[in-house]
Amino acid sequence: MKKIFVLLGLPGSGKGTQAKMLSQYLNLPHVSTGNIFRKMTTSDAPVAKTLNEYMNSGNLVPSNIVNDLVINVLEAEEYKDGCIVDGYPRTAEQAEFLNKHIDAQIVAIYFDIDEKLLEKRILGRYICGDCNATYNKFCMNTVIKDVCDHCGGGNFISRNDDDLDTLQSRINVYKKESAPLLTYYKALNNLIVINANLSKHEISDNLRHATDNILKK
Ligand code: AMP
Repeated sequence: MKKIFVLLGLPGSGKGTQAKMLSQYLNLPHVSTGNIFRKMTTSDAPVAKTLNEYMNSGNLVPSNIVNDLVINVLEAEEYKDGCIVDGYPRTAEQAEFLNKHIDAQIVAIYFDIDEKLLEKRILGRYICGDCNATYNKFCMNTVIKDVCDHCGGGNFISRNDDDLDTLQSRINVYKKESAPLLTYYKALNNLIVINANLSKHEISDNLRHATDNILKK
């Protein structure tokens, strides 16, 4: 049965960075609902303005918009062998929807991080606008790169929601809406917990080990 790995955790816990690395390792595509929505906000899609309002305030986009979009994406041929999803589900309702509409084993991976680390991770984050590679200025002696290591582009951007106030709302929303997902997946016996306080490479090694074990089953 195909496997879908869904990554759960607070904003700034490293889901996006690890999803990209795991995607290469497992040779499974990476889906990020946040990236899909950010792209849509800059398009002339009728929903762009609505998305902008929710995202810039740190609130969740309503599930009726998210669910249909995700299911359409996951049903595409490209995802027939499974995938790594970062940013979905974000509520128990979305998790139920995913279970009901997709024929796959869903394995949740929770990035367990000390909340004190989040501010630096979020406020230092900048992104390559061409390929979405993520960097952190605090990890590089506050020097911001000129050229992206991954695609050679030089168009770096910050996310509109990566400021202190919006981070606090996103943390509050996570605790209220998304934290119950841990109980949900634990009850299904489909939850892996990863220590996300470690270095990028240590986390990546632990993730590889955990997902290798799942894929062997
Ligand atoms: P992310 O890039 O995952 O941090 O998502 C950025 C923003 O996109 C979130 O703060 C939400 O406003 C929106 N978003 C992404 N995924 C979802 C989802 N599954 N449900 C609702 N809103 C979402």
